[in-house]
Amino acid sequence: MERKNAWETYDAKETAALEAVCARYRAYLDASKTERECAQETVRLAESAGYRDINALLRAGERPAPGAKLYSVTMKKSVLLFLLGEKPLEEGLNIVGAHIDSPRLDVKQNPLYEDGGMAYLDTHYYGGIKKYQWVALPLALHGVVAKKDGTCVTIAVGEKEDDPVFTISDLLIHLAQDQMEKKASVVIEGEELNLIVGGKPLQGAEKDKVKAGVLALLKERYGVEEEDFLSAEMEVVPAGRCRELGFDRSMLLGYGHDDRVCAFAQVEAMFGLDAVPQRTCCCVLADKEEVGSVGATGMQSRFFENALAELMVLCGETGEIRLRRALRNSRMLSCDVSAGFDPNFASVFEKKNAAYLGKGVCFNKFTGRRGKSGSNDANAEFIGRLRRVMDDANVHFQTAELGRVDVGGGGTIAYICALYGMEVIDSGVPVLSMHAPWEIVNKADVYEAAKAYRAFLLNA
Ligand code: MN
Ligand code: MN
Repeated sequence: MERKNAWETYDAKETAALEAVCARYRAYLDASKTERECAQETVRLAESAGYRDINALLRAGERPAPGAKLYSVTMKKSVLLFLLGEKPLEEGLNIVGAHIDSPRLDVKQNPLYEDGGMAYLDTHYYGGIKKYQWVALPLALHGVVAKKDGTCVTIAVGEKEDDPVFTISDLLIHLAQDQMEKKASVVIEGEELNLIVGGKPLQGAEKDKVKAGVLALLKERYGVEEEDFLSAEMEVVPAGRCRELGFDRSMLLGYGHDDRVCAFAQVEAMFGLDAVPQRTCCCVLADKEEVGSVGATGMQSRFFENALAELMVLCGETGEIRLRRALRNSRMLSCDVSAGFDPNFASVFEKKNAAYLGKGVCFNKFTGRRGKSGSNDANAEFIGRLRRVMDDANVHFQTAELGRVDVGGGGTIAYICALYGMEVIDSGVPVLSMHAPWEIVNKADVYEAAKAYRAFLLNA
């Protein structure tokens, strides 16, 4: 059951296609350092691909025809794309779903303080991170400040060549005798993740002069005052762009591959569909997966079900039972990254059932932990169908488990969508250094994922 490395099969034409896809991916990732930015970039691309806001049709009571391209955004953080098929929605949709939030540090609501002649922003980390990985590297600040008057200021600092960056200091090795003896989980503790944002006192200020200097700059550049942090969402992310990795440029080093690489492969597949499909195609980009898919923009919310209900009414397919049937008759790929086999840490993998970089998109029949606990365990019949769809489209795919039995585990949005009774399986791009500030993917897997999702949308 050895799977081939996809690169070995590419001719010049396919290599060129792969490079084009990956160039688009790098641009998408660079424009998407937060879930808000990712949603915005997706809508921008959707509109240029001819997608229209479903609300415009709802307001006009306009009935969409097969081939109609629609999008729906929830709170600027989750996005749905629909390409209407020939068949009634009641017969089910082909859905690909990824998440667009990534592990990061969120700025607290009362964050700004001064200590030791420096100004800091206090943070609370988001998602599963190794806290020690987030010190002593250049960081950027991205987010919004919602003001009392209803306006919203967008802030993004640290990405442009001449932008300043921010950082969190680490303890110098000379004085780290005690720190070096600590467990990795407490080498850097949550309350030590304080972002350095200033070091120059404001002349003429009474006290906390460095903090006053930072506040003066915020006021001048953004019209933001200290109290405005109360209603801000500022995210601290690694500064810089996604880069090609290796002498052969075969891989990509970037922040947020989990799970924007699957989000990208989905939209790449969606926007590449030119003919009217039989079954309606749907792309779900959900927020909050890294913290349990909770909240109004997470997969556990009803935003997807509600949008589908609206779409069905627009299409004249009214009634609760039709919505239930549409959901039950749907087929879905829950597209999320998988742990790639890492030779440096071979002991946590079981080699026959590991995902390898370069061997294509990975299907995980189940995730979960300790006896598949908490996992969506996809049906054999559904996997059989997928094998045919993938083979017919010459997609390189592999199957894997998330590490050796009992060494850990993880989850995705698959189990939530399975609640509707639809067929769903996890599928994604293998990643190294998952949840680290800089994650690694292989270009071939990005390309194969886009191919796989296209084949699934058209033929599942
Ligand atoms: Mn993920
Ligand atoms: Mn994750």
